[in-house]
Amino acid sequence: LGPRWLSIPPAAVMDSIIIQERLVERLLSPRTQAQRSHPAKLKDHEKQYVGFATLPNQVHRKSVKKGFDFTLMVAGESGLGKSTLVNSLFLTDLYKDRKLLNAEERINQTVEIVKHTVDIEEKGVKLKLTIVDTPGFGDAVNNTECWKPITDYIDQQFEQYFRDESGLNRKNIQDNRVHCCLYFISPFGHGLRPVDVEFMKALHEKVNIVPLIAKADCLIPSEIRKLKERIREEIDKFGIKVYQFPECDSDEDEEFKQQDRELKESAPFAVIGSNTVVEAKGQRVRGRLYPWGIVEVENQAHCDFVKLRNMLIRTHMHDLKDVTCDVHYENYRAQCIQQMT
Ligand code: GDP
Repeated sequence: LGPRWLSIPPAAVMDSIIIQERLVERLLSPRTQAQRSHPAKLKDHEKQYVGFATLPNQVHRKSVKKGFDFTLMVAGESGLGKSTLVNSLFLTDLYKDRKLLNAEERINQTVEIVKHTVDIEEKGVKLKLTIVDTPGFGDAVNNTECWKPITDYIDQQFEQYFRDESGLNRKNIQDNRVHCCLYFISPFGHGLRPVDVEFMKALHEKVNIVPLIAKADCLIPSEIRKLKERIREEIDKFGIKVYQFPECDSDEDEEFKQQDRELKESAPFAVIGSNTVVEAKGQRVRGRLYPWGIVEVENQAHCDFVKLRNMLIRTHMHDLKDVTCDVHYENYRAQCIQQMT
């Protein structure tokens, strides 16, 4: 508050605070677009303000114009429903041209890295989504170090980014770093298998790992609870660092805090995928039709698919990108600089 404010009586200050709040609201609303671009048209009382309350709006407009990108990796033994889940998550058909190998071809199979990119748009917001698939992981007879091509791929993306960042044209860097890795755990075992432990330990310092229990419709609720507990214990026991959901701000409302608690308690998410739409209770839903009933992918009583989708897309996408940039990439960068010096 400048000296001008000191001579104003308290009632007038209150009025002006209210006006100021309204002004901020108006400045943030699209209606004031014309006014923003023509400051000369501002009303008299609006001229009293510097206008930095519009900064969030400016950032918002700039990022919407630029668009967003997100790279998601999926890993886990073949047949665990990775492609089906990705299609269910983004309502696309990313795997039209996939060729499945027979048992003989898989004996000596090496892990491949396959990238699919789609541009999706929702309410004018553009998202360039890249799915990095890892077919062949855990499929061969000898799976020693089968995660190596995957760690190499992640390192290559960091290396490329590091080079681009140190180059001349830093403005238009294409960010191909992997922001999240969905790791599919089989529902048929009694917890993590050795290959799961080795995979996660090899990757946990390079990427945000989100473990998932695949094909959760194969288990009854008490079995799911038990398996989740077991996986959580093993993750702790083996010192695996999976993606940690950030702490919820204390000023968030109670409903949000409750959702956040439920999200944290549900990990590792037990998911179900389906490429078909079925009719349940008069409604058409994504689900799996069995002789004894329908499993609905988006029904929270049936699985954690909605929690996973909300976490990935609605609530934590930005945090996943921030952790990639501020923790995993920073680690890589620090190592590189150390080696150079
Ligand atoms: P991927 O090899 O890991 O990509 O697995 P796919 O997505 O190709 O799925 C392999 C098989 O499992 C297909 O027959 C799918 O229909 C089936 N499947 C996929 N998701 C689920 C699921 O959530 N539950 C069950 N029971 N089957 C599934």
